[in-house]
Amino acid sequence: MAQGKTGEWEVVIGLEIHAQVTSQAKLFSGAATAFGAEPNTQASFVDAGFPGMLPVINRHCVEQAVRTGLGLKARINLVSVFDRKNYFYPDLPAGYQISQYLQPIVGTGVIELDIKDETGAPRRIGITRLHLEQDAGKSLHDQDPKRTFIDLNRSGVALMEIVSEPDLRSAEEAGAYVRKIRSILRYLGTCDGNMEEGSMRADVNVSVRRPGEDYGTRTETKNVNSVRFIMATIEHEAARQIAVIEDGGTIDQETRLYDSAKGITRPMRSKEEAHDYRYFPDPDLLPLVLDAQWVEEIKATLPELPDEKKMRFIEDLGLSPYDAGVLVAERETAEYFEEAVGTGGKTARDPKLAANWIISELFARLKKADKEIGQSPVSSGALGGLIDLIADNTISGRIAKDVFDEMFETGKKAVEIVEKKGLKQITDTGEIATILDKIIADNPGQAAQYKANPKVVGWFVGQVMKATGGKANPKLVNELIAKKLGG
Ligand code: ADP
Ligand code: MG
Repeated sequence: MAQGKTGEWEVVIGLEIHAQVTSQAKLFSGAATAFGAEPNTQASFVDAGFPGMLPVINRHCVEQAVRTGLGLKARINLVSVFDRKNYFYPDLPAGYQISQYLQPIVGTGVIELDIKDETGAPRRIGITRLHLEQDAGKSLHDQDPKRTFIDLNRSGVALMEIVSEPDLRSAEEAGAYVRKIRSILRYLGTCDGNMEEGSMRADVNVSVRRPGEDYGTRTETKNVNSVRFIMATIEHEAARQIAVIEDGGTIDQETRLYDSAKGITRPMRSKEEAHDYRYFPDPDLLPLVLDAQWVEEIKATLPELPDEKKMRFIEDLGLSPYDAGVLVAERETAEYFEEAVGTGGKTARDPKLAANWIISELFARLKKADKEIGQSPVSSGALGGLIDLIADNTISGRIAKDVFDEMFETGKKAVEIVEKKGLKQITDTGEIATILDKIIADNPGQAAQYKANPKVVGWFVGQVMKATGGKANPKLVNELIAKKLGG
């Protein structure tokens, strides 16, 4: 709910996410799709809209769309149709975009958010459809003061447009939804989800209404390219619409643009200027008919997806829902965790310990070094090695943090560092007892306080640790203190 000056408003959001299909070649041509190539080096005659050129569908792109549909638990339409969406734009040389309109390749599905509803169940957001379409080229306005250049490398690249129902109710939910979709696409390997490179962007539809009333008029903010900007668009648009309505105005159904420098949206075109795209089935392409058997084969190759993985981490590995959620959010993190734990019977390490080390220690160091988990100087196996040394009492958890620092700095293995620096934990009771006896003898005052004030135990532990460079086994130290002073 959003607060206006005349009371509460409900914010209604629907997202159209454009996700670039991971594929070497384009949707209807064999031209390459690699990011960052020299302008117009990856455009075939089909992509350049030459007359008489014929599109040939890329089977891999179709497979990726089906895989995505299955991952979104959506209906796969065995028959779908490619339509021409007609409009003029300098970077759209054919004068139309090949898209899907009335018969998309994927129908309704559902996404669960890591946000709970009033009943405690995960918020479920409806997917309306997913369709395949071509991307347009790019107009370059910043290369020359007088001229605009056209780069057709992106022209014809396959996009999946994933349309949601107007089920989202806040910027926070929309952010969680986009992150969830991105995570699923990355697990599936159907889109790299790199929003900075434009591989994923969203059209953000927003309206407001009084609780219980019908949907209000929406605006659509085009091509928003980060989760943060999507959330900011919603916040700004909702506040703007509420203010307009409360001042007695009405909302125009219009297309807007998000200005990230100013953090506001502004009008682009109104409903009256809206395109009539004159969709019609592309006469160069037959309806796309899928073999049910082929769809089943794709289904059999789907990886374990974040929701299922999370459930398994909680139920089989005993992780908390929070830790499990953090670990599965990115595919690389989940893989790192599973490798650090190790697989199978005896070699498997304590999952909770591994989760803790990744979430608190590794993440903190990665963040400080501004690195992604894929660039971690400490490999999953190397972290596993460190965990082994903690588990078998070779080093204490305290010393392990210093060892980890050095591993992160130098890329060396834990055993090597522990060996070289003599950091092995002291587990010799006699050695600790001798040290403790001396401390007790030198500090009769504190020893006398022990019975009256059990907090003094911490002081003694500290002294032993100081004397041993932190290497004394904390459990043994505590036991010995209780034995010698407690009686
Ligand atoms: P169009 O074809 O004009 O893009 P759609 O009906 O396909 O319109 O809707 C596009 C997006 O707008 C969908 O994500 C949908 O959920 C969302 N949407 C529809 N009505 C509303 C509304 N009243 N408020 C917010 N979003 C809406
Ligand atoms: Mg739309």
